[in-house]
Amino acid sequence: MSDHYVKVSIQLEEMKSFGEDAEKEGVDTEEQVPVCSPSASVSPPDPSSTTIAGRDASNTSITCKHRGKSRSKLGKDDKNSCGKHTSDVSLHGSVVSAHVGRNLNRLTHDRTLHVKGTGKILQGKSETNGNNVTVHPSKNIQETRREDGFKHARKGRPVTVDISKAKTSLEALKLSIKQLKWKEFPLGRRAACDIYWHGVSFHDNDNIVSGQVNKFPGMIEMLRKINLSRAVRTMQELFPEEYDFYPRSWILPEECQQFSTQIRMVKENDATINPTFIVKPDGGSQGDGIYLIRDPSDLKLMVGTQAKQAVVQEYIQRPLLIDKLKFDIRLYVLLKSLEPLEIYIAKEGLTRFCTEPYQEPSQKNLSHVFMHLTNYSLNVHSGNFVHSDSQSTGSKRTLSSVLYRLAAKGVDIKKVWSDIIALVIKTAIAVVPELRVYYQCDIPPGKPGPTCFQILGFDILLTKNLKPVLLEVNSNPSMRIEHEQEVAPGVFEYVPSPVDEEVKVGVIRDTLRLMDPGHKKPSISQHGEEIPMEAETQERSPDEGALPSLCLKQVYPKYTKQFNYLRLVERIASLFIRFLGVKGNMRMGPTAFRTFIRTCKLSNSNFSMASVDILYIDITRRWSGTMPDSREAGMGLQAFVEAFFYLAGRRFKSLVLREQVVSLLQLCEAQLESQSGVEERRSVSCSRAMPRAVRTLGLTNPQLNSPAPLRRASSQDYRLHQRLKPRTLRANVEN
Ligand code: ADP
Repeated sequence: MSDHYVKVSIQLEEMKSFGEDAEKEGVDTEEQVPVCSPSASVSPPDPSSTTIAGRDASNTSITCKHRGKSRSKLGKDDKNSCGKHTSDVSLHGSVVSAHVGRNLNRLTHDRTLHVKGTGKILQGKSETNGNNVTVHPSKNIQETRREDGFKHARKGRPVTVDISKAKTSLEALKLSIKQLKWKEFPLGRRAACDIYWHGVSFHDNDNIVSGQVNKFPGMIEMLRKINLSRAVRTMQELFPEEYDFYPRSWILPEECQQFSTQIRMVKENDATINPTFIVKPDGGSQGDGIYLIRDPSDLKLMVGTQAKQAVVQEYIQRPLLIDKLKFDIRLYVLLKSLEPLEIYIAKEGLTRFCTEPYQEPSQKNLSHVFMHLTNYSLNVHSGNFVHSDSQSTGSKRTLSSVLYRLAAKGVDIKKVWSDIIALVIKTAIAVVPELRVYYQCDIPPGKPGPTCFQILGFDILLTKNLKPVLLEVNSNPSMRIEHEQEVAPGVFEYVPSPVDEEVKVGVIRDTLRLMDPGHKKPSISQHGEEIPMEAETQERSPDEGALPSLCLKQVYPKYTKQFNYLRLVERIASLFIRFLGVKGNMRMGPTAFRTFIRTCKLSNSNFSMASVDILYIDITRRWSGTMPDSREAGMGLQAFVEAFFYLAGRRFKSLVLREQVVSLLQLCEAQLESQSGVEERRSVSCSRAMPRAVRTLGLTNPQLNSPAPLRRASSQDYRLHQRLKPRTLRANVEN
């Protein structure tokens, strides 16, 4: 370990003890809010000690006056969160405690909990919605599946991992498994494995009915540039200030006209503004097909079937530079579970440097890829690329070495790190609703299937004023631990890369440790959220004794109370899933939409069922043209969200959008709550006619409380399913 790295570790440890000291002294570090930051803001670069002061539903952080306008103009990345220009990086975010704002949609009350096995007393706040409707059932499908996994957890045998589909992650995965003393199956295994490691997608191997897979269904689709932009845009409509970390984007070709008109207007209003835009093909990666433009007329649009789906995005003109070079951060994030939402962030990441000194974009340098694009895959082909065994020099460095360097210049890296954590949590909150739709489609409740987890690669740029900006999220971040090197002119070979190995093996190994089926199950609070435990305090298996402490740190549900108020679209998705109808569907038909309206009592004399049908047809038709990869006809989640916003706007005209949506959600949830009471009473009265398994599931799973699933549940297929209990059978074979 280099001196430098030791220093960074010491610094990180000091920060950690700062957080722990604060905890010991009974200071609620999570209540700290930095001045002028409307979004969540934190402290230390070690998430184990990070104190995030985001906004509680009952807390609104202090907002700068300029802030609300921040999205109205382009090319504003050179302003700090107070709207002031900063010329260098020595920026110190001051932190004050504050309790302001008002509660929008939930009540909070203190609770104290003893977490079994840790001897720790945790204090936190439990949450209920204003009308006492909890969106997440206390025990949901994913949890139930995982519990099944725990039941069959190994007894003295090593955890088994199917690595036959691992592709380019193979080397790092094998090293991780070796460190854990687990058992790998390079050619797969006839009996089920505990964990399946897929190199590309959930569907790399379609015959998995138990265990855990390292990919979520739908993740690739969800994180394509257009879908991600759409999901973030929906959140920007609801929470513009909280979601200002994503550059303004337009979807091509459909929003081409809109893009041209808006830019023309901006330029006409202020001739000094000369923005640059970056055009990125929808399914592209590694910088393929990306180009910069300064005028909408430079868009390379094809017509007809050749029309390329792409995103055109505001280009961040003033990134933070180190050694005069632009760089970006690759942060590894583990999405451990969708329900309940569990997110971990790797303490160590990578930074990728350009290989040509940066200059602000001009017509002359727009095509200089080595100046503007940080992709490793491009820059490695530049003559200036520096391969280095040191973690703090060269064209690829560790994140901690860069943070250390910034700290030495006086940068408040705790604040930078806290903003990064907030960005990650908010992005996850934006994409999770649709992921839940994919999940129930591929692994419907009642069907045997695995549980999922996934390592994601967040690409983040720091602006000159140290604001993290999300560039994209990779569903398949490269886990290669070798790099390409030109051994002779034009001849490239893969050679070991110590920097990649250090970071990536840690991420994979610790992901596996967290997913160990024998790992102690964290406590579940009475409200369904898991009580966060520091990873180190979780029970270790005897094999883990020699392993370093986990490099992955939980950030959600740890910071639930700061971010839970953002999860409105997820509640809309819960309604959507409930009314979807037939299992395996991604899209809602007109009848299901009508049922939703009727059940939630949303039609009246001013809004007839005929108007409901017109609304359905209108929105569905518009959306179907924008979704080339649609699996079936009907209304997808994004279209449903649009319809929901419309209904909310009609019903609660005097409120702002966010409050309209909250009010409509409360109304719908209250209706469903009262009706599920009726359903329950009815089901009790006719319980003798129904199979026992169905009765039990109906009570624990709200999806099965809706009339359609109940009908399905009583079908012969379903009863057969219940009787066979394939998961139990398979587990018996394995043992
Ligand atoms: P890809 O998936 O092809 O790598 P990215 O969205 O990651 O596409 O973009 C490639 C590179 O372009 C990034 O690594 C970054 O250096 C640069 N880049 C992307 N978006 C922006 C932006 N909005 N502003 C400035 N630079 C950007």
